[in-house]
Amino acid sequence: MDQTALISESECCGNGCVNCVLNVGFRRTYSDNLEGKQNVISEYRKFRLSSKYPHNPMGREDDNGNGVEVIELHFCVSYLPDGAEDFALMIPAGYHVMMRQHLATGLVCLRPYSPFWVDTLAMEFKIIVNLAPCGQMSRFIKELKVGDFVEFRGPIGAYEYFSNTKTERNIFIITQGVAIAATIRIVKDILDNEEDFSHVFQVACYKDIDHAFFRDAIRDFNKYWNYKSHIYLAHQKCLHRMCKTAECTGECTWFQKKLWYKETVHLRRFSDSELRDISNGSGGNGTESVFIIAGSKNFQESFTNDIKKLTLESSNTKIVLL
Ligand SMILES: Cc1cc2nc3c(=O)[nH]c(=O)nc-3n(C[C@H](O)[C@H](O)[C@H](O)COP(=O)(O)OP(=O)(O)OC[C@H]3O[C@@H](n4cnc5c(N)ncnc54)[C@H](O)[C@@H]3O)c2cc1C
Repeated sequence: MDQTALISESECCGNGCVNCVLNVGFRRTYSDNLEGKQNVISEYRKFRLSSKYPHNPMGREDDNGNGVEVIELHFCVSYLPDGAEDFALMIPAGYHVMMRQHLATGLVCLRPYSPFWVDTLAMEFKIIVNLAPCGQMSRFIKELKVGDFVEFRGPIGAYEYFSNTKTERNIFIITQGVAIAATIRIVKDILDNEEDFSHVFQVACYKDIDHAFFRDAIRDFNKYWNYKSHIYLAHQKCLHRMCKTAECTGECTWFQKKLWYKETVHLRRFSDSELRDISNGSGGNGTESVFIIAGSKNFQESFTNDIKKLTLESSNTKIVLL
């Protein structure tokens, strides 16, 4: 099924399976239990919207000077059957949840979202949504008010992370736009684990600085010895025409003022040669490498091919598509 299609409930398993979401194969539903507790989200469950705010409170604008609509939503579990203490919210890092909207026609709209923050015992989670112009679910999300109820189920995914306590390992995380949300908890888990000596190289690809998500998280991650970020802006325009070129050079004061955290950003597309440089400069031959790629199908295919072309794929290389 096409992800954008509106479908009848009976036609869809709600799991985001093979032809429906990412077309990368069977996506397993995670069913571990935590000290005998049931996963509260394993069936569609209503969650209450407890807060809704712009992702970047410092303001952003698009080509026409309008606000770019990227919002963070915080959901808490609502009504639970008797024995609320028997439940927990288990959404492992790298997994997503399915949001369900009932339409007046009797059909449902299902869209996957990747929580970037989860409190298992309080049964709360947060997502970030980059509202698609005229998108079906985006319209619904835009209208949502604090106190409204929304249905979710999950977790859905196939990502497995093994804590690295014995060998040196490089983890390359390549993300496109808002898909970085799916990797935030993965990075946090690695950096928070004092026994994990993996080196994390995050390549965050965005359209422009106003669509550069999780800059505060990236800034905080960069304080760790084993994390390094690389931010690429493929289509940065100079909105105030200071650069006198179609694309911003990055040197004008308008752009420089936007680098609140004094980040180093590259104003170009991330290329296969840069992929080679980052991976070559990150350790000797024989070091285990894991590439985690989050983005559209085209983005994932393109970098998977690049990794293979650069003969980076060896028995010591693993590619994970989120
Ligand atoms: C595993 C996974 C995790 C994801 N996680 C996130 C996340 O954390 N945050 C996030 O923001 N997104 C995430 N997404 C994307 C998200 O699921 C939705 O696709 C996104 O929110 C858009 O949904 P929508 O219903 O608003 O737009 P849709 O209705 O699906 O439309 C998308 C775009 O296509 C256009 N369009 C629709 N129909 C037509 C048509 N017939 N002709 C021409 N144009 C058309 C719309 O105008 C819109 O701009 C994820 C996707 C996947 C696969």
